[in-house]
Amino acid sequence: MSALVFEHVSHAYGEVLAVDDISLAIERQELVCLLGPSGCGKTTALRVAAGLEPLQHGRVLMNDRVVADGTVDVPPERRNVGLVFQDYALFPHLSVIENVAFGLAGRTAAERKAGALAALTQVGMREYAEAYPHLLSGGQQQRVALARALAPKPSVMLLDEPFSGLDRQLRNQVRDEALHVLKESGAATLMVTHDPEEAMFMADRVALMRAGKIVQVGPPSELYLAPRDAFVAGFFGEVNRIGGTVEGGQVATPLGTLEAKGLASGTPVDVLIRPEGLRLDTISAAAPHPDGVVARVLAARMLGRSSLIHLSVAGANGHDLHLHARIPGRYLPAEAAEMSISLDRSQAFVFPAAGLTPDR
Ligand code: ATP
Repeated sequence: MSALVFEHVSHAYGEVLAVDDISLAIERQELVCLLGPSGCGKTTALRVAAGLEPLQHGRVLMNDRVVADGTVDVPPERRNVGLVFQDYALFPHLSVIENVAFGLAGRTAAERKAGALAALTQVGMREYAEAYPHLLSGGQQQRVALARALAPKPSVMLLDEPFSGLDRQLRNQVRDEALHVLKESGAATLMVTHDPEEAMFMADRVALMRAGKIVQVGPPSELYLAPRDAFVAGFFGEVNRIGGTVEGGQVATPLGTLEAKGLASGTPVDVLIRPEGLRLDTISAAAPHPDGVVARVLAARMLGRSSLIHLSVAGANGHDLHLHARIPGRYLPAEAAEMSISLDRSQAFVFPAAGLTPDR
């Protein structure tokens, strides 16, 4: 039994088709990120699940119960969902514990207090129970918002860009804590984000959207290592692009020949290579004939956990290719040095050249 199911859900605002026939099932204790560029329909999908937008097409089910179709439309407060938004939305005139207890209407005062304290303990904010929101940092306010959403023990948690109002260091810390709290809560979580790194950090599965449609859904590693198209490949980070043409099921590049399965001879393709898919070896007197192709170092910069090396490789028709290689740690070859460059084929993808630009 899935906790939250979208079945062929579409939603338009006037002429704008914001969500275009999406289907997705989220299990108990699973965290799924809806990822995609701005305006692709993520928030609309989440609002439809919450009941904040009336359903137009398709069905939404929660725990095997239809909560929205053409005839049923369970109101948001009766869907047993917890909502967290970017702006925390705490009541400024209520203390932290009163804010959290607010979600527990209809219970006795003692139950509300106990429930609110338990939720505040879950997010590490029990000691701030009597404080008022304006005295808290952004990260603390977001923890309280999370506690408020979790307090009624919802079966589904819906989070819309919950960390994007926080600065980077705080964001990393708060989302780390939130990941564990959400997983422990047992709820099915759907979280909207436009940040691929955040999605990979948080998600059991990522559903990548583009122009209202889900393009690919799966564990982060699957989207990263087996992208369905160039948009998916490019969305998860920088890629080197080399143009080519298929000949006999293969495409020749200055870095070697790659399989181009299922593509007819003559098809123009783009070969996408992740920077970490390029290996570099020094050329020395001891190893004068390395396996790879010769590349010239244009620049090398340490970026923290990895180094980025700008390389020039002789391409077809006398046009040099400018490639980026990413090597873990400190790796800073001298400018103008010649290196041997070779390809990790698991990090190289071949797609038809049409519709390539990832609109991030
Ligand atoms: P963002 O990350 O920028 O919030 P998103 O992926 O969440 O984007 P939505 O907010 O769902 O996307 O918007 C999808 C499309 O629907 C966009 O073209 C947007 O302009 C449009 N849209 C969203 N809300 C409304 C509304 N209330 N009225 C009219 N158009 C809307």
